[in-house]
Amino acid sequence: MDNGNHEEIESRMLDGNAMAGLLYELFNTEMTITSIECGTCGNIGELGSLWAFLESPGYVLRCPACQGIVLRMTVTPDEVYLDGRGAAYIRIPKRM
Ligand SMILES: [Zn+2]
Repeated sequence: MDNGNHEEIESRMLDGNAMAGLLYELFNTEMTITSIECGTCGNIGELGSLWAFLESPGYVLRCPACQGIVLRMTVTPDEVYLDGRGAAYIRIPKRM
């Protein structure tokens, strides 16, 4: 990856906390602090620490260690498509 391309990527990048509202709406719990393991490299961190790209028709969360895609979401007027095949797991605390 050359520098120009890297700068372009960084300019479009947010962190996973940018998706906090949508994730809270979907799961009815604070998802940015949930633990998630990258299915590509095994990196474990909070969902909020993933790199978020929000400007396409959907949302893409990438691993900060290997840049692999961990989660994809597409929001339509009636539904949300969640593609989690890039995650080994997402650990969501149970609400008491
Ligand atoms: Zn990774």
